[in-house]
Amino acid sequence: MSNEVARVAMPAQNPKVRRGNFSEVALGYTEEMALEEAGRCLNCRKPQCVLGCPVEVDIPGFIGKIKERDFDGAAKNLKSKNSLPAICGRVCPQESQCEAQCILLKAKKEPIAVGRLERFIADWEMARGVEMPPKPESKGKKVAVLGAGPAGLTAAGDLAKAGYEVKIFESLHVPGGVLMYGIPEFRLPKAIVQKEIDYIKALGVDVECNVIGGKTLLVDDLFEMGYQAVFIGTGAGLPYFMNNPGENLTGVYSANEFLTRSNLMKAYNFPDSLTPIKMGKKVAVIGGGNVAMDAARTALRLGAEESWIIYRRTAAEMPARAEEVEHAEEEGVGFKMLTSPVEFLGNEDMVLTSMRCQKYELGEPDDSGRRRPVPIEGAIEEIPIDTVVIAIGQGANALITGTTPGLDITKYGNIVADEATGQTSREGVFAGGDIVTGAATVILAMGAGKLAARAIDEFLSK
Ligand code: FAD
Ligand code: SF4
Repeated sequence: MSNEVARVAMPAQNPKVRRGNFSEVALGYTEEMALEEAGRCLNCRKPQCVLGCPVEVDIPGFIGKIKERDFDGAAKNLKSKNSLPAICGRVCPQESQCEAQCILLKAKKEPIAVGRLERFIADWEMARGVEMPPKPESKGKKVAVLGAGPAGLTAAGDLAKAGYEVKIFESLHVPGGVLMYGIPEFRLPKAIVQKEIDYIKALGVDVECNVIGGKTLLVDDLFEMGYQAVFIGTGAGLPYFMNNPGENLTGVYSANEFLTRSNLMKAYNFPDSLTPIKMGKKVAVIGGGNVAMDAARTALRLGAEESWIIYRRTAAEMPARAEEVEHAEEEGVGFKMLTSPVEFLGNEDMVLTSMRCQKYELGEPDDSGRRRPVPIEGAIEEIPIDTVVIAIGQGANALITGTTPGLDITKYGNIVADEATGQTSREGVFAGGDIVTGAATVILAMGAGKLAARAIDEFLSK
């Protein structure tokens, strides 16, 4: 097989069919497809792809095993570095991580589909039953983890593998963080997330839900309970609002509430699930990131006749992954650019009926390097609408930082932690993921969890 062969496309559900269901959009490689794609890898002597992976997956190593049809060996290789490969293979922004470093790009060829191969191996292993690594020798020490998102799960898994007694305390009634409550079923099936959480538990990690760190359980309580180190991975779950007049009208949601009702509380399955969503026929989602794409595509599946992305810059500045934008377009999501609401209007029952929008043009680049949206004077448009979902970002909540003396935070409320170790200003307290960086990605959160686990091991081994 040679790398002259084009990158193997991912089979997917037909857009017209999938916009009416919550089943997974991307269907995964067959064995033949995986072998063909793996055959394109050059096994570079100094593989750059590995440097692009925050959890240090031995990419040429596991792809090499696929080439040999040793899927079992590929799974072992993958799992030695990444405890959540089925998740990463589905939602990692590979195009800006490992795949962005692939040497084939330099030759103006498409990079190896590392994520698709990772997903293939993880699914293959799940279908056959996951093999556990050998039980480590106990270190006789206890570590507590606050938050069961990708950062917390990774830190906990790596610490358990190193022989620590680890317990995760999670505020929601299920572990998984954004993987469970944010990213929709059609992109990341919850049964897959559950299986990877079960793997972490099988490593020996204990998980207790319905515990609110910083409120029902303080960081200082944990040390009194005998934990010798604490990892905080509580994410960025606090939704930002626009502070426009009318934002409290019925029919205006934060993306967090909208997606949590749909994913975690299974509103799409109402009345079999007990939490419905009041859905209109014409939906506007404000924002241009992955969260906005997820909300707009969810709205269509919940029965909206029209679902619009309203974004104040242009498509070129949208932060969402290209594949997500493409999928949204294929499913019929509309895009209204250089536009943003300044007021929401409702009827006498305080129910949303329309929004007044300001039109913009692009000016000079701002600090982020993207061209700044500049309002066009007097260009105001009123758009009839019955549901608005605000997806303009989210930040850290202050529950833990407000009740943990000596824990330094940034002006945005994020915990200050060393990039290489996760060490905070409090001895024995480490942090990583969105609570440190602000809203970022699954793999960056996992990378931070991995580094912190290593640093906690060093700290407790002193
Ligand atoms: P989280 O996943 O937020 O997990 C934090 C956990 O801590 C949660 O379970 C929370 O309930 C719990 N918690 C919070 N406060 C407390 C407390 N006080 N006590 C105890 N527990 C607490 N990234 C990608 O790479 N690809 C994508 O496609 C993608 N899509 C996304 C779509 C949506 C809708 C959203 C919202 C985000 C998306 N992201 C995506 C971003 C990614 O999910 C996050 O960057 C990642 O989940 C951060 O991991 P984390 O572990 O730091 O935090
Ligand atoms: Fe294979 Fe690309 Fe990594 Fe080279 S850089 S080893 S071609 S995945």
